[in-house]
Amino acid sequence: MEFMSDISNCYNKRFIWVASLCIAFILNLPQFSAAYTLADRLGFQRSIVDYRSRLNSNYKKVKRKQTKYIIVHTSELGRKMTLRVVSKGKRLRNGRKTNGGHTHYVIARNGRTYRIVDKKYEADHAGLSMWNGETNISKISIGIELVGYHYAPITESQYRSVGILIDILQRAYGLGDRAVLTHSQVAYGKPNRWFRKNQRGRKRCARNFIREKAEVGPTWAYDPDVRSGRLLADLQLSKIYYGRREYYAKTDDANIITKINTAWSIAGEDYDSQTTVYKFPGGHIYTGDQISAKIGWGRIPAKTVVLLNQENSISLIKSDDPIKTISDQLTAWSFAGQAYNFKSTIYFLPSGRIKVGSMISDWDDLPAKTRLIVGYRGPYELYKDRSAYEIAGRKYKDRKTIYYLPPKKLLAGDKINDFNGLPKGTLIFLPNT
Ligand SMILES: [Zn+2]
Repeated sequence: MEFMSDISNCYNKRFIWVASLCIAFILNLPQFSAAYTLADRLGFQRSIVDYRSRLNSNYKKVKRKQTKYIIVHTSELGRKMTLRVVSKGKRLRNGRKTNGGHTHYVIARNGRTYRIVDKKYEADHAGLSMWNGETNISKISIGIELVGYHYAPITESQYRSVGILIDILQRAYGLGDRAVLTHSQVAYGKPNRWFRKNQRGRKRCARNFIREKAEVGPTWAYDPDVRSGRLLADLQLSKIYYGRREYYAKTDDANIITKINTAWSIAGEDYDSQTTVYKFPGGHIYTGDQISAKIGWGRIPAKTVVLLNQENSISLIKSDDPIKTISDQLTAWSFAGQAYNFKSTIYFLPSGRIKVGSMISDWDDLPAKTRLIVGYRGPYELYKDRSAYEIAGRKYKDRKTIYYLPPKKLLAGDKINDFNGLPKGTLIFLPNT
C-alpha cells in the first residue's frame, strides 16, 4: 500500500475514504473492494442458480461455527461433471463414495454461479489442510469452485463473478483480502516418495488464480506453516505465491511433463491415482496406478500429457485416433489445450453443424458427443470432377485425412471403401503437417 503518499494527500476530497483505509490498515480491519457497486452485488445475488435441492441426501448439514477464510478452487473438470461431483459426491481411492456437498459455490466458464450448499453450513472442500497452524480448513471456510483446470486460463466472466462473490462474502463475514486463499495454498500432504515430512503441494488447485483480476489484494508474504517448520515447502507453489513478481503459474502447456514440470507438480497427490491418465508422446496410455510397475516414476518421457479426474479413462481416450469426442470427462481443452479456439481446430456438433475453433468462445460451451479434429485445414468440397485424389493427393486413403459425409458422419480415409459412392456435399479436411 502507498501509505505515505496517501497521508500526504490528506487534504483532498478523498481524504475520508483514504483515512478510513489507513485506519483499517493500521488496525488490520477488513477493507472492502471499491470495484463493485451495490447494484453489482444485488444483480449478482439474484442471478445465482439454486442447486441445493440436487445435494446427495446423505450429505449432513452442520452449521459452521466460524468463518475465517474463503478458499478458491479449480474443479479440473467441465461444468456438468463439476456440478455432479460437488453435489452428489466422488469416488475415493478405496472405492467408497463421498456424500457430496463439496463446495458452497460453483462458477461456470460463462460466469454463471450455482449455490450448492447454503453458506451457513460446512462443506468438505479443502480435505487435509492447514493454515497458520489451524487444520481442517473446511470447518472454518467457504469454498468456491471455478470450472476449469489449474493449467488453463480462468475466464474474464469467472473473474467478474468470483470477484463480486468474494466481495459479498467478505462483507458478510468481515473478512479482509488475506482471508482469500486458494486450495493449493492451504492443502498439505502426508510424507510420500518425494517428501519425508508433511508438506505443501498435495493440491495444485487454483494456482492460476490471478487475484488482481478478481479485485482481491495481495496474499500473505509467506506461508506461515512452512515458516514455522510445520510443513515442508513446495518449490513451485512457493514461487507462485510468495516469490517476487513471479506470482502466477504459467498456463501454457502446463499439464505436459517437462524436466521441471513433473507428475507431482501437475497432479499433486493424484499422481499415482487410477483416475490420472498419462498420454505418452508415442500414443501409449497409462493410468497413474500403472506407472510405478510398468515405467517407473523417473522415466516418464517429456511431452507426456497428464489428464486428471478421468474416471473411465481407458475406454474414453483413443489417443492416436485423429477424431476426438467430447464427453463429460474430456473437454475440448483436454484434447486441444489452448488450441481449442484456433481456426485449425474443427468441431462437429451433434446437431450436424460444423464450427471452427475461432467461433467458439469457451471450451466448456460444447455439448457432449461433439467431435473434433485438431490441427486441420479445410473444408474442401468434393465435386463431380474434383475427386478425393485431386484434393488430398496420395494421402486420400490416409487415416489422418478426414471425411465429413452429410448429414452427420465423420470418417477417416482408411475407413472408406468406396470413394465413388461418397454422397453429394462430402467435405474433406487435411492435416496441417
Ligand atoms: Zn480444490
